[in-house]
Amino acid sequence: MPTAHEADPAHTPLTALSGVGARTAEKLAARGIVTLQDLWLHLPRQYEDRTRLTPIADLRAGVPAQVEGVVEAVERGFRYRPLLRVALDDGSRATLVLRFFHFRTAQVAQFAVGTRVRVYGTPRAGQNGLEIVHPSYRVLETADAGVLDADLEPVYPQIEGVGPAVLRKLVRQALDRLPADAALDLLPVTLRGSVPSLREALLIVHRPPPDADLAALSAGIHPAQQRLAIEELLAHHLSLRRQRIALQCHGAPLCDGPGDLVERLRATLPFALTSAQERVFAQISDDLRQPRPMLRLVQGDVGSGKTVVAALAALQAIEAGAQAALAAPTELLAEQHYVSLCGWLQPLGIEVAWLAGKVTGRARTRALEAIADGRAQLVVGTHALMQEGVGFHRLGLAIVDEQHRFGVHQRLALRDKGGDGGLVPHQLVMTATPIPRTLAMSAYADLDVSAIDELPPGRTPVQTVVLSGERRPELVERIRAACAAGRQAYWVCTLIDDSDEVVAQAAQSTFEALRDALPGIAVGLVHGRMKPAEKQAVMRAFKEGALGLLVATTVIEVGVDVPNASLMIVENAERLGLAQLHQLRGRVGRGAEASTCVLLYQSPLSMLARQRLATMRETSDGFVIAERDLELRGPGELLGTRQTGIAGFRVADLVRDAALLPQVHAIAEHLQARSPGVADRLVERWIGGASRYASA
Ligand code: ADP
Ligand code: MG
Repeated sequence: MPTAHEADPAHTPLTALSGVGARTAEKLAARGIVTLQDLWLHLPRQYEDRTRLTPIADLRAGVPAQVEGVVEAVERGFRYRPLLRVALDDGSRATLVLRFFHFRTAQVAQFAVGTRVRVYGTPRAGQNGLEIVHPSYRVLETADAGVLDADLEPVYPQIEGVGPAVLRKLVRQALDRLPADAALDLLPVTLRGSVPSLREALLIVHRPPPDADLAALSAGIHPAQQRLAIEELLAHHLSLRRQRIALQCHGAPLCDGPGDLVERLRATLPFALTSAQERVFAQISDDLRQPRPMLRLVQGDVGSGKTVVAALAALQAIEAGAQAALAAPTELLAEQHYVSLCGWLQPLGIEVAWLAGKVTGRARTRALEAIADGRAQLVVGTHALMQEGVGFHRLGLAIVDEQHRFGVHQRLALRDKGGDGGLVPHQLVMTATPIPRTLAMSAYADLDVSAIDELPPGRTPVQTVVLSGERRPELVERIRAACAAGRQAYWVCTLIDDSDEVVAQAAQSTFEALRDALPGIAVGLVHGRMKPAEKQAVMRAFKEGALGLLVATTVIEVGVDVPNASLMIVENAERLGLAQLHQLRGRVGRGAEASTCVLLYQSPLSMLARQRLATMRETSDGFVIAERDLELRGPGELLGTRQTGIAGFRVADLVRDAALLPQVHAIAEHLQARSPGVADRLVERWIGGASRYASA
């Protein structure tokens, strides 16, 4: 009789492998690795090519390489902290320094002058030529010399308490027990396309043969990786669909009053809703009247007027005796929402509370009490709303703005604050990042999607001008002219350096230069290093028109709303992505005046930068820009998960793998309809019982 394990290697516990005792098993389990299948899917994050040697003279900073040489000199210092420097010579007329900051005495003894060592690491520029900090290395006995690895070496995500060599050994053992295709593959062959079988794909990804396309593997676009990505995307898609169905089983607070509060706000608004706003609010309003939780994403380009739609939704919940909460990703944005919403809702007698990280002491206690006992009918704030210790009396509607900046966890954390015996609040998420439809379908399979696809009337499209940075001085005149006409302007400083500090310094000096060049015009400065209260004071002054020019970093990217501003200048625009440029440009063109956005660039422009700037000049349609963004981003162009808000895939990348989505959706349909049992097994394989999104 075969044991259960032999029958199903996928679910065999790791203790069946040699070298896995209770302690190692525990360490692995802490990372969710419990069975052989979990190890199969613990995929390398990169590969090291130790199949060849690079002469020291050919090393390049930032490019990982393997080197072999003889110890030429050793220096051990204790200046501020222990330091070991080993100089290597390989006869290529250059020296490489190995630098260690922590080491054992035995290690020092290894590096006797004349010893031959083989080293792998990423060189960087040091004080005297290139150096590698904490390389992986091996002292070579003469017999060893010359024998190189035959295969690329996979590098796995680290696991606390399990060394890389041990982990590699375990993965190798687990792979030896991979079943044949028939027992392993869950995808219908007819829908699989040209990608390899799962077994084949796993073997290639874990043990790439020496002739494997390392560039494709490193970029994550090898057919073997695509096969895995299809399966992973499929599992997520199926799981989100199921969670959606599960969510529908919960009750939600019924918000089906007569709508008097909504009507009263409409009556006081200085504008009529656009037909897109009307349509989207009608959809939301309908959702709120159902006894099941709403889960709706509202996409609307910058300036399309999402906030007032959120306010109307909040009123419908409040009228039903429920509380509403609105969370925004930055304090600057949250504060603007707070100001707008107070302006609209307080005259109707609604109690609006404010909660951000900076609210402390008695103010915080008071806010928390009002939230807990239900006096606060609408609560506006940052992620502070999602933290422990915040409990609602009866949260009926949770609104999250710019949701791509929050994780799924945070959205769920807010939802879980319902506080109303078993009822789940309705959820409304809003985003101005136009997510191409293909992506939205997959990323948000669990959400209904509405689009506010129309801007309020009376806005003149922003004219976009692309200029070389050398023409900077002319812009001073433009600013002077705009201010003389009673308008206001933004000057946005960006740098390639991500460090807040460096960008803040650049903004500071630009601010000083412009202030000196523009006597008679009040110039303000806002950047990420300022205290929230300072930032808010500057923003308020700009909004009230007390400042003519605002010098800013990209902190103003989202949500800032000053309709009188009609000129924006963006420095180093070639360094920004399309999504960010579009967001920035959205700060102007909010009033009836014709607005201009000047994109300054530094030559020489790369091909991609040139195309990005051309796109900005040609269109202001957020969806077109998002689609173009996707096309222009080849592998290798950095994108974070910021765009999609979905982190935590093992192999898949929603943007890189967007082209796979139609196939994924087709397979999902097929499985859902014909083989729900197979769909279950796929979800279980990739997401497992302990799903991060459990019980969504
Ligand atoms: P976003 O969708 O970018 O969040 P906002 O909600 O900040 O846009 O709205 C942008 C500006 O347009 C605000 O000043 C808002 O009061 C105004 N607005 C919203 N809806 C309309 C409308 N239907 N007509 C005129 N102005 C509107
Ligand atoms: Mg907004």
